[in-house]
Amino acid sequence: MTNRVCLVHYHEIGLKGKNRSTFENQLVRNLRCALRSFPVKGIKRISGHLLVTVEDGFASQELAHAISRVPGVARVSLAYLCGLDQDEYCAAAVKALGEAGEFTTFKVHARRSSTDYELHTLDINRLVGGVLCQEFPDKKVAMHGPDVTVIVMVVNASVYVYADTGRGVGGLPVGTAGKVVTLLSSGFDSPVATWMVGRRGATCVPVHFSGRPMTADTSEYLCQDIVNALAPSGMIGRMYVVPFGEKQREISLAVPQSLRIITYRRIMFAVAERIAQIEGAKALVTGESLGQVASQTLDNISVVNEMVSLPVLRPLIGSDKLEIMSRAEEIGTYDISSQDAADCCTLFMPRRPETHAKPDQVHEAWDSFDHDAMIDDLVNSIEYVDFDQCPSYKPPRGYRARHRELAPAAFERDDVK
Ligand code: ATP
Ligand code: MG
Repeated sequence: MTNRVCLVHYHEIGLKGKNRSTFENQLVRNLRCALRSFPVKGIKRISGHLLVTVEDGFASQELAHAISRVPGVARVSLAYLCGLDQDEYCAAAVKALGEAGEFTTFKVHARRSSTDYELHTLDINRLVGGVLCQEFPDKKVAMHGPDVTVIVMVVNASVYVYADTGRGVGGLPVGTAGKVVTLLSSGFDSPVATWMVGRRGATCVPVHFSGRPMTADTSEYLCQDIVNALAPSGMIGRMYVVPFGEKQREISLAVPQSLRIITYRRIMFAVAERIAQIEGAKALVTGESLGQVASQTLDNISVVNEMVSLPVLRPLIGSDKLEIMSRAEEIGTYDISSQDAADCCTLFMPRRPETHAKPDQVHEAWDSFDHDAMIDDLVNSIEYVDFDQCPSYKPPRGYRARHRELAPAAFERDDVK
């Protein structure tokens, strides 16, 4: 039986000129981690692709699917690996076309990585095409827009044959775009926003504000489930949790009801920015979508945004809820986000939140309590959970001194190593 391998295609990385090998090496590292539960024998570069081989020689659909979820992968093909023997690769082409599902037209497309091989690509096309016409007499050859293309790729002494190519998530390998802190709730939007920046190569460090001790810690476990659901894409190495319930109660007593949410969010942004400094992250990310809820009008976004000097990325700003939910389904977070859990957002909710906050009123409310002390206290009470699924995540060792300065109490506590 002819062996099977996975060929990984990555067009965007190919565009990166001199950085290409950095991107390829990162993709290899990320694939190694994402495929840990498979008996992978090797991952190596061949002729503009990555080749993934397994111990028993028979790569599976499941392996191809796992590869397709890793950012930076444009397409994956489960290919037959043959020698230069013509009968062998023609037989593989028959099998590959036989597995291609419903089709009426096809063509053969041969490629050679060097001119050493005796047959020219046109000869290979003719040879393999002739065999396929015999084996599939009711199918037609179409040079333009065929339903299926059988690829025959000659690289050194091997021939790779495949007909079916699965789409990957695309984007860039995680770890090639720096670090971001993402504000993660257990709702639908922020997990999708996190995944989207991760797909563009960012290493993501989520921060979740929980309502603890005023609520149960259910939302924290849902956020952990979300991080685990995103594990196949390898973008998260650590999640921070900030117990916010007590401080929310203080805010709810100090500021007018209609400005509570905005005030919570200003505190959340300030704390997230401090965590970004500890982590050496260069931007914050939220799941905001323009006008979706009261706190997401332009007026409200702007009075919250003024709290921070880091860029705030909002990958979903122009998305509709239905688009976001279908993406959540695709990335595996939908069912988790469908579960109800009280988090800090559900605590002390005002009856009529302000939709168009006036900066003066917001500032007056802000100055009515000791916000700096509150931010310090919250930063000092941060907790974190580590996840062994993100090769590019580096804990902030270089920031130890800074960590001590920014969160002295958190640094001394036993549960924070
Ligand atoms: P989501 O579905 O992401 O919860 P949402 O539609 O509920 O978003 P908001 O509650 O206004 O909208 O939250 C807007 C953004 O603020 C979220 O996408 C997320 O980035 C951040 N956020 C909200 N709640 C929390 C939380 N408890 N912890 C961390 N970030 C949060
Ligand atoms: Mg929410």
